[in-house]
Amino acid sequence: MIERAVVVTAVLVACGGSQPHAAPSAYDPEPTVIAGAFPPDRGPDGNSIILRAPRGLIVVDTGRHTEHQDKLLAFAKQAGAPIAAIVNTHWHLDHSGGNAELRAVYPAAEIVATRAVEGALVGFFPKGRAQGEALIASGKATPQQIEDIKLGRAAIDDTRNLLPTRPIAQSGAVELAGRQLDLRVAPFAATEADLWIYDAATKTVIAGDLVVAEVPFFDSGCPEGWRAALGEIAATPFVRLIPGHGEPMTHDAFARWRTAFDALLDCAASPAEVTTCVAGWRAGAAAFIPPGDGPRIDEYTTYYVTEILRSPAAHERFCHPLRAESAAPRQ
Ligand SMILES: [Zn+2]
Repeated sequence: MIERAVVVTAVLVACGGSQPHAAPSAYDPEPTVIAGAFPPDRGPDGNSIILRAPRGLIVVDTGRHTEHQDKLLAFAKQAGAPIAAIVNTHWHLDHSGGNAELRAVYPAAEIVATRAVEGALVGFFPKGRAQGEALIASGKATPQQIEDIKLGRAAIDDTRNLLPTRPIAQSGAVELAGRQLDLRVAPFAATEADLWIYDAATKTVIAGDLVVAEVPFFDSGCPEGWRAALGEIAATPFVRLIPGHGEPMTHDAFARWRTAFDALLDCAASPAEVTTCVAGWRAGAAAFIPPGDGPRIDEYTTYYVTEILRSPAAHERFCHPLRAESAAPRQ
């Protein structure tokens, strides 16, 4: 599938360690972030977050490429704990494409996600797959693109490792591997139903792609639902937010990012020139865009404003349940 997504450095960010949180259990509750990479010539991997729990590890998002999954498996091996649960914040393959690789080693790992992937399997993935195959057939695909297309195809075909074994329909406290987490469902946001996590023990928000530092990936996004979800995140007393891509944020940094997000939506809804909205994002989100990446981010923002935010067809498609492209028009 073709996902428009942006670079994040391949730095391994290890959060926490010995903070004096009240931790009655033997395990360290602090999350570890395995940062996703996005080299210029390949699709991205989302950030993965590993949480320790009494009965093993919880891995939030599994990346796209085997290099990323190898890091997750190496972490589990070194920790001497099985991967007991996988949480997919959403169905984009840079967050769920690695489920199969982890379950090949830990077959008992449950998959915790919303059922939104069911809509993607009929209303998004087939189109991306056809685009990928057309690109290969054109002879213009680079070896890296061909590898990504094949990875995507394998992930989409392997529905057993994409569909949730434990579907989450509504927000609430859930016990995973013996650890209690507050799972929140955000309807019609980055996807038809995103999952984000508030971990009260460490005052951490795991935001998935509701927050992408460099530019929100609107590929399957619904602006109004997304804006509302950010309001709910802002209302939690978190001290650290781990985005779907990019570095962890403080509450203040998130507030600045959210201001830029709202300004982008407002601009797109106004008669302003596209270039004005693009420049507005670049200025408002400057602290979140690495030096040198500006031109690429401008390209993505231009695409999102014209093809998603200002497209009635995209609004119709992504602010309602996904369905097969050939289905009758919505009444
Ligand atoms: Zn992503």
